[in-house]
Amino acid sequence: MNKARIVIAGAGYGGMNTAVTLSKKLGPNDASITLVNKHDYHYQTTWLHEPAAGTLEPDRTRVKIADVLNTSRVNFVQDEVLEVKTDEKKVMLKEGELEYDYLVLALGATAETFGIPGVHEHAFTKWTLNGARQVKDHIDAQFANYNNVEDKHEGLLTFVVAGAGFTGIEFIGELSERVPELCKTYDVPREKVRLFVVEAAPTALPGFDPELVEYAMNLLESRGVEFKINTPIKEVTASGVIVGEGEEIKAETVVWATGVRGNPVIEKSGFEAMRGRVKVNPDLRAPGHDDVFIIGDCALIINEEINRPYPPTAQIAMQMAKTCANNLIALNKGSTDLETFKFDNKGTVASLGGKQAIGVVGSRKIYGGTANFMKKMIDNRALFILGGPLLTLKKGKFPF
Ligand code: FAD
Ligand code: NAD
Repeated sequence: MNKARIVIAGAGYGGMNTAVTLSKKLGPNDASITLVNKHDYHYQTTWLHEPAAGTLEPDRTRVKIADVLNTSRVNFVQDEVLEVKTDEKKVMLKEGELEYDYLVLALGATAETFGIPGVHEHAFTKWTLNGARQVKDHIDAQFANYNNVEDKHEGLLTFVVAGAGFTGIEFIGELSERVPELCKTYDVPREKVRLFVVEAAPTALPGFDPELVEYAMNLLESRGVEFKINTPIKEVTASGVIVGEGEEIKAETVVWATGVRGNPVIEKSGFEAMRGRVKVNPDLRAPGHDDVFIIGDCALIINEEINRPYPPTAQIAMQMAKTCANNLIALNKGSTDLETFKFDNKGTVASLGGKQAIGVVGSRKIYGGTANFMKKMIDNRALFILGGPLLTLKKGKFPF
């Protein structure tokens, strides 16, 4: 029998970790492995709030794929996936196509806009490395403009974050920390800068521990952040956001963080999906497609304890990568006895900028310096799993 052709689409937490594991566990005579990704680097999506706010160099968040992947074992293709033709077992790319026997779809997420008018036109929605660079450059330009324009209009230095989920909170944490430095650099009085977080739900970080939410809000408010809670954004315009019953917050900077949906390739390829996410079988294959695994933000798994989907996180994507790789190895050996995915929730830790963070680890609540330390350890762990001690030393966070 010819050796199996395994194609992995997306080099994020799910795809990279699957590729690295397979490259170590499958010999060259067992299978051919191809990884396709838009860029020749992997970026740490979980760090992107930092380069977006300008508190971390963008380069620190990325890793050249060839630096961590054995490219003599894995064929790397830099290209954009447009669609999967499952009946032909082909992945259609911008510049060509790839045939597969087994496919892993790990293309991550895109912004959920709920069809709210003006979001794509007027808000920053891309949580990618290039998207983060764009936000940072725009923020810097707004400050640089302040002393160069006659009309110091309302909105010039008003920054709105849409959504007080973890992404919105982590981003405003970084930005609020950086504002004093920006004011100093560009000779801007601090009182001219306004930072809003607008949240539709009755609380920031809905569903998270209320005591820690209060800690986070108090801390952010002490840095000048204004929360508009219970206030859904209805529209984004060139001059700001329309909220609640029609009130306008004038702002030339709107950073969108109201949640995510699976990559558009999923729906375009005809997979049955909810908000772009496929409810995968327990072995992580797409229903009706025994040759297609879907992992990470494109996959949906129900937490039976509460009958709701697990939130899409890097933590679950990395665990899925492990199960997915094991199942591909089993299939390659001719076994049909596949592993069932089981999420092992290790907790949640969110940064608040500077040396501040909050989190729940096991049943323990942590905050301040302890949580900040833990957050850095989690970030370093992801690097360690991907590229061992060398990568961790090169790109890790060691603030102590
Ligand atoms: P990703 O890691 O996003 O990777 C997708 C890859 O696919 C990327 O390399 C992308 O370039 C590539 N790609 C996309 N489309 C195409 C295409 N058409 N063709 C080719 N390549 C393509 N989760 C946590 O567990 N902990 C955290 O602390 C945390 N913090 C976060 C902070 C921020 C600011 C954000 C935005 C998210 C955070 N998350 C966190 C969520 C976490 O980042 C995602 O759940 C995780 O990245 C999903 O992994 P993935 O492999 O599915 O996708
Ligand atoms: P989210 O879905 O967790 O939060 C989005 C927030 O936007 C919600 O609070 C929602 O009520 C609000 N919202 C929705 N529509 C709105 C509107 N019209 N106006 C105002 N507010 C609105 O999404 P996220 O924060 O982007 O996170 C995405 C995923 O990444 C989640 O699974 C999250 O857990 C994960 N993540 C984890 C971390 C961490 O663990 N440190 C950090 C960032 C993201």
